[in-house]
Amino acid sequence: MLETTPERSRAGGARSKSFYIETFGCQMNVHDSEKVAGVLLGRGYRPAENPAQADLVLYNTCSIREKAAQKVFSRLGEFKSASKEKLIGVLGCVAQQEGEEIFERAPWVSLVCGSASYRKLPELVAEIEAGGRRVTGLDLDTDETFETEITRRDNPYRAYLTIIEGCDYGCAFCVVPRTRGPERSRPSSAILNEARRLADSGYTEIQLLGQTVNSYRDPSPRGMGFVELLREVTAVRGIRRVRFTTSHPNDFTRDTVAAIDSTPALCDHIHLPVQSGSTKVLRAMRRTYTREEYLEKIFWIRSAQRPISITSDIIVGFPGETETDFDETMSLLEQVQYDALFSFKFSPRPNTQALDLTDTVPEEEKGRRLSILQEHQRQIQIARNETLVGTTQEVLVDAQHTARGQWAGRSTSNRVVNFTSPRENLLGEYVSVKVFRAGPNSLVGEHVLQPI
Ligand code: SAM
Repeated sequence: MLETTPERSRAGGARSKSFYIETFGCQMNVHDSEKVAGVLLGRGYRPAENPAQADLVLYNTCSIREKAAQKVFSRLGEFKSASKEKLIGVLGCVAQQEGEEIFERAPWVSLVCGSASYRKLPELVAEIEAGGRRVTGLDLDTDETFETEITRRDNPYRAYLTIIEGCDYGCAFCVVPRTRGPERSRPSSAILNEARRLADSGYTEIQLLGQTVNSYRDPSPRGMGFVELLREVTAVRGIRRVRFTTSHPNDFTRDTVAAIDSTPALCDHIHLPVQSGSTKVLRAMRRTYTREEYLEKIFWIRSAQRPISITSDIIVGFPGETETDFDETMSLLEQVQYDALFSFKFSPRPNTQALDLTDTVPEEEKGRRLSILQEHQRQIQIARNETLVGTTQEVLVDAQHTARGQWAGRSTSNRVVNFTSPRENLLGEYVSVKVFRAGPNSLVGEHVLQPI
């Protein structure tokens, strides 16, 4: 969905050029691709249905774990022979990390651009259009954010909106500060104008994005903090739901819970990555909080007047993680009772402090710990979701599964809800669903025709 109608083609010629973007990784990458697509539409490009039909193929990459980074090179290999007819570009974290090395490994690539340089993308694209062959955007020292006149939003019901880019934390395992650059908050006026434009074009749910979304600090004279900004975005006429991700525990304050309690439009979900349940490992990871400090924040959330769903990220097998440390992560899981969890085996990454530590946990042991963790979490999710059987949930409908005769959407706590309905054309609507069954990853119910 386009938030603004694209301008008349500036690319000129009888047939405008076409582009295709493949995206790997997190929501921030997905949204970056939407903005990059907006830049290309503004230059008169049209979207192609697949890479084979495109004149310009861009890979927006993720390097958070080694596997994700490897995938990009195998994908690039597929285009070696087609490179005479096409321009190929690598964007995102692998681009920033590998830089001009990419031209050595895949000489058919014309553009390498990290996310901190996307603001220069119009000029870089103009350079390759003019025949440039090794065009790069790899600056990290920036205090600018990536603002686009047009954003091609792929989801017509829920819109991503960046409020802060980059990261100033120095987590020992993480490539983000090296691939996305320093933290840069967008001025509140730019954010609120975008939220108003989204509402005007029919969006009712906004997800505010940032690597550390809750360390937002308005750089303009208004000087809004994160919670003030949350309240302002929810006050935009037409916006019914506001989410935000990812919160860093260090910046998580009690007033975020108070804001959720007093603002119905703020969704009852907080993603608060803990990474480990052991203070010793947290220290080695440079996470800036202890197990006890993290649990205190969980206590604030659990003390809210309405139930707030809590999700997290955990890494197992970080260098030095002993069986006792892992047991502490398991006991934290038991104590917090997360509603969902993203869990990973530690993967050593270039240019991170953890690379200097001895990777003490063998791969097989990492795998064993991950399976134990994931099975336990599965049981927790089954139990938590079962408590919702018999309740009525408000669902924003975003999919129709015709073969199954079901609709699907998300509750405010971000759970997937599949349901049947006697009605047609529900996409984009908020409906009440009575839950009659629960699994580890979703709820099943039926549409209740009277309002909640
Ligand atoms: N900025 C967020 C934070 O600080 O919590 C999340 C960043 S990252 C895109 C998402 C998750 O990937 C992290 O929370 C972490 O659990 C995982 N991750 C990051 N680096 C990793 C590594 N080297 N090995 C395994 N997992 C990693």
